[in-house]
Amino acid sequence: MCVNDIYTVEISGMTDDGRGVGRAEGVAVFVPYALVGERVRIIIEVLKKNYAEARLLSVEEPSPHRTKSECPYFYECGGCAYWHTDYEFELEIKQRCVEDCIRRIGGIDCEVLPIIGCPSDRRYRNKASYKAEGGEVGFFAGRTHRLVPVSDCLLQTEQTNLAVNCIGDFLKESGSSGSTGSIFIRTLGDKVVAGIDSDIQAAKADELADRLRGVGVNLAGLLINGKLGYGNDRLTDKIGETEYSVSANSFYQVNIFQTKTLYDKVREFAALSGRENVWDLYCGTGTIGLYLASGAKRIVGVESIPSAVEDARENARRNGIDNAEYFCASAEAAAPKIRTKPDVVILDPPRRGCDKRLLETVAKSGAERVVYVSCKPSTLARDMKRLEQLGYTTLKACPVDMFPRTSHVETVVLLSKLKSKEHIYVDINLDELDLTKAEKKATYQEIKDYVLEHSGLKVSQLNIAQVKRKYGIIERENYNKPKSKNTKQPQCPPEKEKAIKEALGHFGMI
Ligand code: SAH
Repeated sequence: MCVNDIYTVEISGMTDDGRGVGRAEGVAVFVPYALVGERVRIIIEVLKKNYAEARLLSVEEPSPHRTKSECPYFYECGGCAYWHTDYEFELEIKQRCVEDCIRRIGGIDCEVLPIIGCPSDRRYRNKASYKAEGGEVGFFAGRTHRLVPVSDCLLQTEQTNLAVNCIGDFLKESGSSGSTGSIFIRTLGDKVVAGIDSDIQAAKADELADRLRGVGVNLAGLLINGKLGYGNDRLTDKIGETEYSVSANSFYQVNIFQTKTLYDKVREFAALSGRENVWDLYCGTGTIGLYLASGAKRIVGVESIPSAVEDARENARRNGIDNAEYFCASAEAAAPKIRTKPDVVILDPPRRGCDKRLLETVAKSGAERVVYVSCKPSTLARDMKRLEQLGYTTLKACPVDMFPRTSHVETVVLLSKLKSKEHIYVDINLDELDLTKAEKKATYQEIKDYVLEHSGLKVSQLNIAQVKRKYGIIERENYNKPKSKNTKQPQCPPEKEKAIKEALGHFGMI
């Protein structure tokens, strides 16, 4: 295989950054804009030891899910990965990506719940970072410093697009657009904060603010080269009943429609009863912990960015939450020093995942449950594997699409130290450990074998336990009883009871 060779290949999979994967002469080839299930003509552009990268020349057999991109910038911009498919198929691809990572990288076979799609595949972002250059605003094309002018990004709100175009015009007119600058926009609760880094003078802030308001931008604040030039840089948002104040450079979930859904999933997995101490590590502005605080005994949050920690404390006050405290430190350094022992640990690290030492600290802390929120399936799977080696069992995972049309996907995972998957068996085996004299006479297996031989009936360990209890052989009341009154547990049918009773008699147990 050589660069510039042309092949026709079948696309058999997708990478986690949204490229199609095919094979030519046995070599894996990555093809942007090709979809799994398609036959495509490609030209090899990069040849590496174990794989090649190719450009799509034509689609010979399109996927039934292929669509015409509604975004005119899709093939240049590089910010999105999936404008060429219907949204349902994008969700399928993301589901499979999460499942594959957990299975292949994590080596874990767990339940992966169906991905929760976003109610809107566009206008969902509350945050944007643009580049300004030569009088144009837009984004750098993937892995380059070539500006692709974008005046209407479909992921952004109307307010963001309005603001960024207005700032672009302003920079152009004021002659400072020749220098490379960047524009940051955040929209929350209908208000906008804009930040500009360029050679524009701070004195121009009021003039620009007027312009922005003049074109209909609901401007709350303007930062120029990191300094507040107009208004204030805080925005507020409400998720469920919890209100958050967010400063310009603190992390905040970007999806306007899905954040509540994500946090509700975390709440469901955390399953708090009100008695738990919860560590909220990588807590940002305290969002997740504060969302859970009313159901917990105590929340301890750790975050490395000082302004985010201040936001977290302010957000606790704002919501009248007095059982949450925050530390500004790296999670790996702080965790071993936290005095409050956790019952539940929430992990929500950036893409690189968790520090190995932190996972060891979590495991040593004795936390019963870990709820891991991740925006990168591959590092998530790596960390899940480490947590499993440290004694946790993965119970379930649920992908949540926070980033429609891009290759990114969020996942919430529940891990437990109690090994709940095996819980029922553990309970039953305890009966054998807790032997009364009578019980020593025959094992469950011997009783089963006897019953099968003498009555032809297959009985379960549970059936035997029920009969034993009825005849007072098991003294400990709780074993094998339903966990709550509402739990349905099959009762031993009379003919089986009769056969088991006979076996117990045979072994001299009753
Ligand atoms: N849980 C929050 C934020 C998640 S983003 C939310 O849902 O809004 C990840 C956060 O981790 C960011 O705020 C980032 O500043 C912080 N962070 C990154 N590395 C860290 C580290 N080593 N220790 C603690 N926090 C870290």
